[in-house]
Amino acid sequence: MDCIFCKIVAGELPSYKVYEDEKVLAFLDINPVNPGHTLLIPKEHYETTLDTPDELLQAMAAAMKKIAPAVMRAVKADAWNLGVNNGAAAGQIVMHTHWHIIPRFARDEHRLWRGEPYAEGEAARVARHITDNIKA
Ligand code: 5GP
Ligand code: ZN
Repeated sequence: MDCIFCKIVAGELPSYKVYEDEKVLAFLDINPVNPGHTLLIPKEHYETTLDTPDELLQAMAAAMKKIAPAVMRAVKADAWNLGVNNGAAAGQIVMHTHWHIIPRFARDEHRLWRGEPYAEGEAARVARHITDNIKA
């Protein structure tokens, strides 16, 4: 399969690995937002978080809790973001499930996104539609 991250798992492409277990792999992002920016992936290929079996998401969550504090300590970060782009319109470029663990600094001035308040009555409507879709 022509997937960069599968090739990294297979050792066909080099990477700076920071963590590995039976189900997941974590390695440095080649273009870090800040040094230490780590990508956490399931070793098996799934396109997005929602396609990924719960068992693997659980393994990713457990690994995230080990890796994020280590990244923080290694680069003396003040905080960190967990970033997940699901789908091209959300900024996903590599179509193999991955979570970004991004160390942050008090004055790094990165802004991830801008919020806008809802119009009158809109929030109640949107919340109801979401709840209805969860029940459906
Ligand atoms: P996405 O936009 O799909 O959420 O993020 C993909 C990430 O993968 C980007 O931050 C990009 O820098 C990183 N990336 C792309 N190609 C490679 C590669 O060959 N090696 C590594 N280590 N990271 C990569
Ligand atoms: Zn893959």
